[in-house]
Amino acid sequence: MRLYAGQGFSGKSVAVIGAGVSGLSAAYKLKLNGLNVTVFEADGRAGGKLRTISRDGLIWDEGANTMTESEAAVGFLLDSLGLREKQQFPLSQQKRYIAKNGVPVQLPSNPIALVRSNILSAGSKLQIFLEPFLWKKNNISKGFGTEESVGAFFQRHFGKEVVDYLIDPFVAGTSGGDPESLSMRHVFPELWNLEKQFGSIISGAIQSKLSAKKGSSGRMKDSSAKRKNKGASFSFLGGMQTLTNALCKELSKDELKFQTKVLELSCSFSENSPSDKWSVSYELEDRKLSCEKSYDALIVTAPLSEVKQMMITRRGSPFLLDFVPEVSYLPMSVIISTFKRENVKKPLEGFGVLIPSKEQQNGLKTLGTLFSSMMFPDRAPNDVYLYTTFVGGSRNRELAKASTDELKQIVTSDLRQLLGAEGEPASLNHFCWSKAFPLYGHNYGSVIEAIDKMEKELPGLFYAGNHKGGLSVGKAISTGCEAADLVISYLNSSSDAKGNT
Ligand SMILES: Cc1cc2nc3c(=O)[nH]c(=O)nc-3n(C[C@H](O)[C@H](O)[C@H](O)COP(=O)(O)OP(=O)(O)OC[C@H]3O[C@@H](n4cnc5c(N)ncnc54)[C@H](O)[C@@H]3O)c2cc1C
Repeated sequence: MRLYAGQGFSGKSVAVIGAGVSGLSAAYKLKLNGLNVTVFEADGRAGGKLRTISRDGLIWDEGANTMTESEAAVGFLLDSLGLREKQQFPLSQQKRYIAKNGVPVQLPSNPIALVRSNILSAGSKLQIFLEPFLWKKNNISKGFGTEESVGAFFQRHFGKEVVDYLIDPFVAGTSGGDPESLSMRHVFPELWNLEKQFGSIISGAIQSKLSAKKGSSGRMKDSSAKRKNKGASFSFLGGMQTLTNALCKELSKDELKFQTKVLELSCSFSENSPSDKWSVSYELEDRKLSCEKSYDALIVTAPLSEVKQMMITRRGSPFLLDFVPEVSYLPMSVIISTFKRENVKKPLEGFGVLIPSKEQQNGLKTLGTLFSSMMFPDRAPNDVYLYTTFVGGSRNRELAKASTDELKQIVTSDLRQLLGAEGEPASLNHFCWSKAFPLYGHNYGSVIEAIDKMEKELPGLFYAGNHKGGLSVGKAISTGCEAADLVISYLNSSSDAKGNT
């Protein structure tokens, strides 16, 4: 049994809204620090966008399929939950493909492979190699402003073909978005800052890598071995939900409440009293209930569109969230198919294939396909290949909501063209996320400002999750752990204030 080390918070309690990976990570960290936690989850299950199905000898993920350890908070969870032994790294994960002229082409993994590959024209390759010379720091025009699109930024540095064949499929595959709608500053903040610091993003990346290496050379050997692997994608034995299941195991039945959709939050703080209290009202299986218990702090991880619908009161008066801008959400369908091995004439080893928008002219309509059983052979019987295909995003919002039959035609046609998968799939499952990803678009700066304002004006309320700071599983975990740290310092400072009164 894990020992939960208290920090003098006896009796303090925190409500966490949402049992996705961010909310569960926050609750776990709070509990480790000796706080009482209650997690409210609208759905009948935990995990949110981590959703693994195990059926008929197959294991598949309908949400996130892999994650990385780029964030320190991920390493902390893997170690403290004892999950390292369950980590599952995909076979041949370096082999990733994009479609070009209707066929899969392997992505080069180093500069020599890039020179040899036919993914880009000679002109684009030259532009990449010249980028460090053309983009000196003093060459940066001040005219690009703060709201440049991802497409415009990469086109300035590397040209249009790189945007069309590398950036477009990458952002569609990782966020459902497209290069023109996404804000560079918010989607790739590290690269945005590299340009500010170095001019060239290639030489900036090399220089920062070298200085990070220098800085870490004195650290312990085992931690640098772990860090080496931090960019590698991985899942877990049994799928991604193994992670959220492990987090759930750390919470008791009373601490994790399902089918409790939070409707109202009310804060009874007074300016003269440091003992702010929150109460939570929720709907339990369609019955509206008010939670008797009050909480010293809240962590909200529900999507902002849900938070806007909540009734929030502060000292008895409504607190309107009209300053929170509308967030645009991208829908996505996930289609899981299996094909008998003998029916797949050109199977590819590796991670998967992404489809650039331009390839729609060659008849390809999906966003990309993961070669799930090539990555993780234990996910399907030996005689079939398991594929996970994504359709929709900002490229094709309507198609994301199409019927299973229509999507089956589309997926079958793309897999026939790309992998020579002939005939009907041996099995097919379909899941549609109507709000798969929030779009980090050009108004995203005002979304962050609104979250800051909400946290500032509502003492003890902290916001976490994939609307803040990044869409990946690792980033969602990081925001959950950061919110837990903020709650801890908030409660520490309010106890100090109480002690001083
Ligand atoms: C199809 C798809 C594929 C993806 N692939 C990857 C990938 O391969 N790698 C990667 O790193 N990331 C991937 N992602 C992104 C990643 O999965 C998510 O960004 C991350 O899981 C979000 O976690 P979260 O806790 O912020 O939000 P969520 O998982 O959305 O959790 C929020 C929770 O809040 C609950 N909730 C909402 N309203 C209320 C309310 N009023 N009261 C109580 N509870 C409420 C919801 O039911 C939900 O459980 C993918 C996402 C999708 C949709």
